[in-house]
Amino acid sequence: MAHIVGYPRVGPKRELKFALESFWDGKSSAEDLKQVAKDLRASIWNQQKEAGVFWIPSNTFSYYDHVLDTTAMVGAVPERYGWTGPTVEFDTYFSMARGNKTTPAMEMTKWFDTNYHYIVPEVGPETKFSLASRKAVDEYKEALELGVKTVPVFVGPVSYLLLAKPTRDAPKGFEPLSLLDSLLPIYKEILGELKAAGAHGVQFDEPTLVLDLESSKYAAFKKAYDYLGADFGHGILVETYFADLPAEAYKTLTGIDSIGAIGVDLVRGTKTLEVIKEHGLPEKKKILAGIVDGRNIWANDLAASLAVLEDLAAKIGKDKILVSTSCSLLHTAVDLKNETKLDDEIKSWMAFAYQKVHEVVALSNALKGKKDEEFFAANAAAQASRRNSPRVHNAAVQEAIKKLGDADHRRATPVVTRLEEQQKKLNLPTLPTTTIGSFPQTVELRRVRREVKSKKITEEEYIKAIQTEIQNVVKLQEELDLDVLVHGEPERNDMVEYFGEQLQGFVFTANGWVQSYGSRCVKPPVIFGDVSRPSSMTVFWSKYAQSLTSRPMKGMLTGPVTILNWSFVRNDQPRSATCLQIALAIKDEVEDLEANGITVIQIDEAALREGLPLRKSEQAAYQDWAVHSFRITTHGVKDTTQIHTHMCYSNFNDIIHSIIDMDADVITIENSRSDEKLLSVFREGVKYAAGIGPGVYDIHSPRIPSTEEMADRARKMLAVLESKVLWINPDCGLKTRKYAEVKPALTNLVAAAKQLRAEL
Ligand code: GLN
Ligand code: ZN
Repeated sequence: MAHIVGYPRVGPKRELKFALESFWDGKSSAEDLKQVAKDLRASIWNQQKEAGVFWIPSNTFSYYDHVLDTTAMVGAVPERYGWTGPTVEFDTYFSMARGNKTTPAMEMTKWFDTNYHYIVPEVGPETKFSLASRKAVDEYKEALELGVKTVPVFVGPVSYLLLAKPTRDAPKGFEPLSLLDSLLPIYKEILGELKAAGAHGVQFDEPTLVLDLESSKYAAFKKAYDYLGADFGHGILVETYFADLPAEAYKTLTGIDSIGAIGVDLVRGTKTLEVIKEHGLPEKKKILAGIVDGRNIWANDLAASLAVLEDLAAKIGKDKILVSTSCSLLHTAVDLKNETKLDDEIKSWMAFAYQKVHEVVALSNALKGKKDEEFFAANAAAQASRRNSPRVHNAAVQEAIKKLGDADHRRATPVVTRLEEQQKKLNLPTLPTTTIGSFPQTVELRRVRREVKSKKITEEEYIKAIQTEIQNVVKLQEELDLDVLVHGEPERNDMVEYFGEQLQGFVFTANGWVQSYGSRCVKPPVIFGDVSRPSSMTVFWSKYAQSLTSRPMKGMLTGPVTILNWSFVRNDQPRSATCLQIALAIKDEVEDLEANGITVIQIDEAALREGLPLRKSEQAAYQDWAVHSFRITTHGVKDTTQIHTHMCYSNFNDIIHSIIDMDADVITIENSRSDEKLLSVFREGVKYAAGIGPGVYDIHSPRIPSTEEMADRARKMLAVLESKVLWINPDCGLKTRKYAEVKPALTNLVAAAKQLRAEL
């Protein structure tokens, strides 16, 4: 039987996004919004029913975030939102999500290693749970009215608490999981209502089970499901995803009587099958075999998957297997049907959420002996065409990769000496000032970029417009008296797309949106083939910008790891292999910039930390190849060429050694929200000899920091860092800000640097 873990909510054409934003802007009513949501849910359920899915999920829809929905369900609204109960309505819900006039939003953070972000629950000893939202029951009944019997899905109670953070007033050392006993009755109450409404099965997502949990935590899962499952027969499904399920977690789940099915991710997890085979599966339990990738856009290799399923079936029995997706389809694009610009060949290699539902059903039927020969044959033909396509394989790229060999690819001269050589050439003041790359992206700029794409304006007109913008940005920076300048990135819509569009091996979808948070979606480029660089990508603009000033102009590139982590990546070779190919392309660009007189080159690795695998056992290998890929881009430059890198991540204590190993000359990092974390790294005596610019201006906020405030923060840095390594800069690019904010803020930033220089 076919099972789907969860489904995208935004709609095939981002209908929910537009409905939400129009509601938030006061342009439409709550009723309008609810109607759009209801229509989307109906179409999703109907599609799955028609496709032949047996276990169709409900309650996977969300107006903003499924973790926030859980917070609403259990009434864990932080006190500052002034909620008095009994139910959580739109105003409270969206206040928690987005803030309101008086209270900022709750914290948001990454959902495991995906690009989805959830609202972090806040609980403390004073938290009193209550059933404050019956969304799950309402959706169950709504589907039933449409003639669709669904499986309501919840964030499991243990994961909910493990993902929560203590409230600000909670005593030190307070563990949210200590609230499990008072949380469970709320879940039980809602289960009771669902049972009364006719539900036979309920799914609990417990993705924290794939993490390296301390053994003591497993007891919490046992307690929770013994209690919740008591009167639910064997109707409890527990889903895990995003990595292998550790043997101990598997044994915990198989040891809980009420659990009828255990979901495993067979795409990200390569060892779970062995665990199942080794430990076996008790009577009355089933495996939800997640074999269709919920996090990518490639068509499943049905023949290969069927072989895996049959192999498992030989061990545990066919009737014990429910075919499923590796995780919720939330993390993939919605419907390939709307891709009208992709050619048929590439399209035949892809499957979005809707197509994946059909793959799950086809596999499930085939396992039962009812193989749809035609469907399988078409799939096999597509797989073969992808495997053999000259569009995918490029001999020259593979040759270049081979030539890399096993070498370490490091710059020969140590960073301290390089910095001295560079200083002779650059002649920068101590505490040099710079920015991270982009300047405000005006409506006018977006228009110009759009119009050249649609050929409304000529290439010449476009170049003229961008050059004028660069002139203004350069002039402004000289007036502000910044030391190392940038061209402002006016020609870029997005730091990955800009490069992907100029590299071979990438394609772009028209509607391949994936929810990032709330109404925000991203449209990742698709890397389908060997990556190469037909011609230079940034030299034209950087050279022009440098010609306007005698100050150093930073060349501005996106690094290989970030391009990889923010794309849909091919699944026919390891991620590391694709990363190396991108690295070689960026290396060529670095060397082209250098040959054209650019002496400072910044290679952004904003997403390096994001790709860190969830399981500790896999982290070292990732850091190894990620950092190696970065070094490949830079190891060929002269000592006098200064390599910068930038990271949008303050919490980098756990990867500090990788950062050092990247061997950049200067790193600028996000820091505006917490000086302490970063300072503690250096207080602990980490040896950092390269230049470092912890952001002193929080560009995520419209607030303009004063000279004194920024000087103060830099002073704190000077207490732990040598003055010769410290740079003064904002913590990220300025593209989302307005000139009215940026001008005074940068004026103050330069003033702060000057004041500090005088103090040294
Ligand atoms: N250079 C990029 C910019 O300034 C960096 C963006 C980022 O780190 N996300 O926009
Ligand atoms: Zn950044």
